Order: sequence, then structure tokens, then C-alpha cells
Amino acid sequence: MLIAQILAGKGSSVVSTRPEATIAEVASLLKEKRIGAVVVVDAGGELCGIISERDLARGLAEHGGGLLAMNVGQLMTRGVVTCTPDDDVQTLMQRMTEGRFRHLPVVKEGRLSGIISIGDVVKHRLGELEVETHMLQDYIHGSA
Ligand code: AMP
Repeated sequence: MLIAQILAGKGSSVVSTRPEATIAEVASLLKEKRIGAVVVVDAGGELCGIISERDLARGLAEHGGGLLAMNVGQLMTRGVVTCTPDDDVQTLMQRMTEGRFRHLPVVKEGRLSGIISIGDVVKHRLGELEVETHMLQDYIHGSA
């Protein structure tokens, strides 16, 4: 199963912010869009970081309430691990497990073309398991 197939179902839109945005703005964005991470793009539209709810939790522990006025650029992760639409889901799961993160932006020919969360992967895997279960049930009951 390729990443492109998951994107075909969920679309290629990516919620993004700028390094100059405040943490308060990002917190509102996460709430409004009901997501766990936002990619960060610079003035030229280039991917330059990612900031997730985990960064906000860590930031709160380190900076207290002053966190809300800080900039995204001060808190985001800069070395963003990405994938391409041609990667398979197995590879993506491996990258998430090794990197201990739950979001992977998808980049195609240097351009952001989607984002895959661990929730998308689990949803897809459950769909696959359901199909496999039905096939096995049909096989056992002799209708295949
Ligand atoms: P998450 O599990 O996605 O909430 O992220 C956990 C930590 O990894 C946070 O510090 C994120 O900024 C960072 N992170 C999330 N996704 C990525 C990614 N694709 N590449 C690098 N770091 C990431």
C-alpha cells in the first residue's frame, strides 16, 4: 500500500503556519482544525519545521504561561523527516516508530503534497484487516 493511496482518500491539503506566528495562534489552529501538528513554512513557502501538541506540552513545562507569547520558530522541530507519495505505508510506519513522532509531511518534487498522521495509518490498516477478515470468512464458508 502506497502513501499516494492514503492521500487519494484524505486529500492533499496541509495546515501550515509561519515561524513568526505565536504559540497562542498555533494552539488556536490546532483546536480549530482538530489536528495534532502543523507544518511550518518560511516566507518562500519552503518547509522549515513542524510543531506538534507535544512541543506545546514540553514548552509549557519549560516556560510556563510565557510560552503563549513565544514564536513558533523558537519551539518547532527543524529537521523535518518527510516521505513521498511513492513510499509504502510499511516504510512510513518504520520512520514514525524510529523517530518517535506521529506526523509525516509528504513531499513530491520539492513541494508539500499532503501529511500523514498515525491516525490515517491506523484507519487504513483497519480497513485492510476488515477486507482480509471478510475474504477469510467467505473462504471458510465456501462462498469464495
Ligand atoms: P508528534 O508525535 O508528531 O506529536 O511529535 C513528537 C515530536 O516530534 C515533536 O517534537 C514534533 O515537533 C516532532 N515531529 C513530529 N513530526 C515530525 C517529523 N515528521 N519530522 C521530525 N520531527 C517531527
